[in-house]
Amino acid sequence: MTQQVHDIFVIGGGINGCGIARDAVGRGYSVALAEMNDFASGTSSGATKLIHGGLRYLEHYEFRLVRESLMERETLWAMAPHIIWPLRFVLPYHKGGIRPAWLIRLGLFLYDHLGGRKLLPPTAVLDMRTDPVARPLKSLFTKAFEYSDGWVDDARMVVLNARDAADKGALIMPRTMVVSAKRENGLWSIDTVDTVSGKGVNYRARMLVNAAGPWVDFVIRGVFGRNEAHHVRLVQGSHIVVKRKFEGERAYFFQNPDNRIIFAIPYENDFTLIGTTDRDYTGDPKDVKISPEETDYLCRCASEYFREPVRKEDIVWTYSAVRPLFDDGASKAQEATRDYVLKVEGQDGEAPLMNIFGGKLTTYRRLSEHALEKIGAAIGVQGVPWTAGSHLPGGDFPAQGYEAEVTRLRTRHPFLTESHARRLVRRYGTRAAALLGEATGLEDLGRDFGADLYEAEVKYLMAHEWATTADDVLWRRTKHGLRLSQEQAARLEEYMAAHPARMAG
Ligand SMILES: Cc1cc2nc3c(=O)[nH]c(=O)nc-3n(C[C@H](O)[C@H](O)[C@H](O)COP(=O)(O)OP(=O)(O)OC[C@H]3O[C@@H](n4cnc5c(N)ncnc54)[C@H](O)[C@@H]3O)c2cc1C
Repeated sequence: MTQQVHDIFVIGGGINGCGIARDAVGRGYSVALAEMNDFASGTSSGATKLIHGGLRYLEHYEFRLVRESLMERETLWAMAPHIIWPLRFVLPYHKGGIRPAWLIRLGLFLYDHLGGRKLLPPTAVLDMRTDPVARPLKSLFTKAFEYSDGWVDDARMVVLNARDAADKGALIMPRTMVVSAKRENGLWSIDTVDTVSGKGVNYRARMLVNAAGPWVDFVIRGVFGRNEAHHVRLVQGSHIVVKRKFEGERAYFFQNPDNRIIFAIPYENDFTLIGTTDRDYTGDPKDVKISPEETDYLCRCASEYFREPVRKEDIVWTYSAVRPLFDDGASKAQEATRDYVLKVEGQDGEAPLMNIFGGKLTTYRRLSEHALEKIGAAIGVQGVPWTAGSHLPGGDFPAQGYEAEVTRLRTRHPFLTESHARRLVRRYGTRAAALLGEATGLEDLGRDFGADLYEAEVKYLMAHEWATTADDVLWRRTKHGLRLSQEQAARLEEYMAAHPARMAG
């Protein structure tokens, strides 16, 4: 049997690998992608989840990155208005603080005017003596700046890119580890292992893309067998989640005495997300977890601002991830560049390799376009840029049309409570209709796993989004992990093991 030769083989199912695979297959290349665990199980589910210009990066003169990121905010929002939405940030100010008011004003002026802002409201100055946003804070502040950025469900953005790539014909393989890759007769010969069955399969491709995020150097060493590879600096960032600390939909931007900043963000309706930290990391990224010092640091920094202190006992969940930052030799972790670098290797006649270093959720679509320019130069151009103006699955409704979608879903399925309908539209957008089918009552949705998670949703996630374990469902496809008890999670695990689903497409 002749084995198919793919144009492009991508290692890594984080945001960058899935973004490149989607863009490439949409241009007409044949694409395969292998992810050793679940999609977004690496860094791409451990972010602060902002679609942001990066106000702080202005201090490090990262104008290219900030401008590209600012421009992407509304492009991405329009692409996926179910999982991306605008968020206002409140930056409390007091005299003698870390940064003078003129510097903050200048930063926010640039932020408003560097480009791309059409629907997002501009910066405003708040009177903290009267604005309700001051209520949960200590009474130190008379003034605050309020500015716009965006919020994203990071893990869902990854899986929706994978879904769209598969819908367009890419071979998308979770739980498939690339163990070796070598050049043979002008092609790449790639050995993979199914991490569940242990079965090995060989693939051939004209070009290989190493989008392994924090594992990018591990792949260069372990998969390509090279001794030296120290291109990325691994920088750990951790978050804590506590019960909701404040009312309202605005987030806070707190400046700390060490010159760092942390965010306190309304999270999953009933919670507050606080983070992040920045510290160099040397282990395997899969083992990363929050340290007691980071927990203390986040509690302490947030308590400097909130009237009611944030205590360790208040924490209901934590998560931690590793940033794969391009190593530009900066001395402090927080100063290392957040920009990305794409490097293509391969002499004449050799199959090319592209390594991806760095990158943010916010810039993944532009990173993919830049990667496709280099891929075109290496193996021949196909198609044209197409992802700006496209929709991720379920995102085919107007950027400001979320409320109308909720109303539409409730009109079709009046048995849904307001909160259930809102949650389904947030996760699945227009595809919530397919998930619910002809259901006319809750009993049609099957078994109730708790907190509005029904069998119909689990089946949908198994059939359309490659979910195979309770963790996939509870911590990446949704955040029901925050609401289900251990017993309920165990029942979900049992159910999923007993009802393996065949993936559609
Ligand atoms: C604490 C923190 C906060 C952040 N906050 C933000 C934010 O608010 N906004 C923003 O825009 N960005 C943010 N980022 C940055 C952003 O999350 C990352 O840049 C991005 O997720 C990196 O994606 P990736 O695809 O490169 O890596 P990953 O998501 O790690 O994907 C790489 C994948 O490769 C797989 N892999 C590795 N080796 C192999 C192999 N041999 N075979 C098969 N698969 C393999 C891994 O399993 C992994 O899933 C944050 C990052 C951190 C750590």
